[in-house]
Amino acid sequence: MMLLKNSRKAILQLLELIMMTILYEVHDNIYVNMTNRCTCSCTFCVRGKQDSVGDADSLWLEHEPTVEEVVQEFSKIDMNRYNEVVFCGFGEPTERIDDLLKVAALIKSKYNKKIRINTNGQGSLSNGRNIVPEMAGIINSISVSLNTPNEEKYEEIVRSKFGKGAFKAMIEFTKEAKKYLKDVTMTTVSTTISKEDEIKCQQLCDKLGVHYRIRTYQE
Ligand code: SF4
Repeated sequence: MMLLKNSRKAILQLLELIMMTILYEVHDNIYVNMTNRCTCSCTFCVRGKQDSVGDADSLWLEHEPTVEEVVQEFSKIDMNRYNEVVFCGFGEPTERIDDLLKVAALIKSKYNKKIRINTNGQGSLSNGRNIVPEMAGIINSISVSLNTPNEEKYEEIVRSKFGKGAFKAMIEFTKEAKKYLKDVTMTTVSTTISKEDEIKCQQLCDKLGVHYRIRTYQE
């Protein structure tokens, strides 16, 4: 009986592994899902409302895939179909910055695709070092979630484990990105802030010399 129970558990674990979504499509891009960890708990986070985005069934990971597992997934798809590789997923991709950069470098040299990271901008704070220079030459563009131009509101919205310092760290991260990467964008989610705040976000982005984009809820 115990043997049957253990076998059933092993089969279920195997099925979960097979069904785990590491790569998924959004529009013409291929997205990479390497972690479910995040330093924030944003009030609007899609993870609280649904299990996936794009063409994925679920983006909850049974385990964090190794570099080899991620690269293996790329070999199963036709990369000619995609414009860009985007590290995003159901978590904060810079939580695995070392592995992310290993995957990105391999993918870039093999498929010669543009590579973007979608981030909450707290990666340097979380990793305890300035991670941006490490991206130079590998990452083409970065999209940082600004969310609001207001530091106090930011704390309320993103509920970062770093509390008060998170907003300043995110701005500092963006300034660093501007030094090392060609294409830097800050985003807010449409419908989550007022038109007045969107104007302030535009002004902040102008000051930082980065693009500003108002994105839809599920992007
Ligand atoms: S930073 Fe992104 S993944 Fe993390 S809680 Fe906020 S919306 Fe969700």
